[in-house]
Amino acid sequence: MPDFYAVIGNPIHHSKSPIIHKEFARQTHQNMQYEAILAPLDGFETAVKRFQQRGGKGMNVTLPFKLEAYVISTRLTDRANAAQAVNTLKFDENHGILGDNTDGAGLIRDIEVNQSVVIADKSVLLMGAGGAARGVILPLLEQRPRILAIANRTKEKAQVLQEQFSSHGNILTGHYQDFSGERFDIIINATSASLHDELPPLPTGIFAEKSTAYDIMYGKELTPFLRFAKQQGVSNLVDGIGMLVEQAAESFFLWRGVRPETRKVIEMLRKKGQ
Ligand code: NDP
Repeated sequence: MPDFYAVIGNPIHHSKSPIIHKEFARQTHQNMQYEAILAPLDGFETAVKRFQQRGGKGMNVTLPFKLEAYVISTRLTDRANAAQAVNTLKFDENHGILGDNTDGAGLIRDIEVNQSVVIADKSVLLMGAGGAARGVILPLLEQRPRILAIANRTKEKAQVLQEQFSSHGNILTGHYQDFSGERFDIIINATSASLHDELPPLPTGIFAEKSTAYDIMYGKELTPFLRFAKQQGVSNLVDGIGMLVEQAAESFFLWRGVRPETRKVIEMLRKKGQ
C-alpha cells in the first residue's frame, strides 16, 4: 500500500509538484502516490482534514493557503515560525500537524549549489516584503551576507520585516529609489510584479560587476526583471524553477528522510518548456 501525499491550492491545475514528486519517488524507490487537490477558497482546513483522514501522510501547500496552513499547524519548525507561512505539512499518527517552510532553503540551495554563487560577504538586495520575501530572509541571513537590503514599494512593510528579523542580522530597508547609487552582487526579485508582467522600479546601475539576477518567478520567457538585468549587462540570469524543485526536495526529505537528486528534474522541466 503506497503512502499518500498531495499538493493543495486554488488554482492548482498549473502545479508542477505532482511531476516533481513522482520523479523523486521513482528515483529513490519510495512507495508513494502524489496528487493535486483543488480546495475551495473557504474550504482549506476541511480539505486538509479529509485528506488526513484518508490516510494522507503530508501535503505541499501553495497559494493562497500558506497562511492558513501556518494557523492549522499544531507544531512549527523554526523556519516556518520565522516565515509565518507554511508550505509543507507532515501528519503524525496522533492527528498532529507539523508545519514547515522549505521555500527559503530551496532558494539558498539553488543559488549556492546549482548556481555556485556564494552568498557570504556579498551585498544582497531582496525586492518585495510579502509572504515569499518573509520566508527567505532568515535563510539568507544565515549565509552571512555583507549587506542584506530589502526594497519595497510600501516601505513600511519592509520596516516591519527589518524589526522582526533584527536579532538575526543587520537589514537595510527603503523604497527602490533609496538604493540609487548603491551596487549589489545578488538581486532577488521576490515580488509578484512578474506575474503581471511588470518591473519593480529599480534604479539603473544597481548591479555590481559579475552580479546575479534571480527571479523567483519562472516561465517560458525571461521575466521583465531578468530582461532589465540583461540590458544592464548582467550575464548570470536565474529564474525560480530551480527554487521550485529544491523546495520540493526539501519537503520530500522531511517526509521520507531521503534527499532526491534535483539537477535532472530541473533539466527535465526546462526541456518540457516548464
Ligand atoms: P504577496 O502578495 O505576499 O507580496 C507581493 C509583493 O510584491 C509585495 O512586496 C508587493 O509590494 C510587491 N509587488 C507587487 N507588484 C509589484 C510591482 N508592480 N512593483 C513592485 N513591487 C510589487 O506575494 P508573495 O510574496 O506570496 O509571492 C510573490 C511571488 O513569489 C509570487 O509571484 C509567487 O508565485 C512567487 N513564489 C515562487 C516560489 C518558487 O518556488 N519559485 C515560492 C513562493 C512564491 P507592496 O507591499 O508594495 O504591495
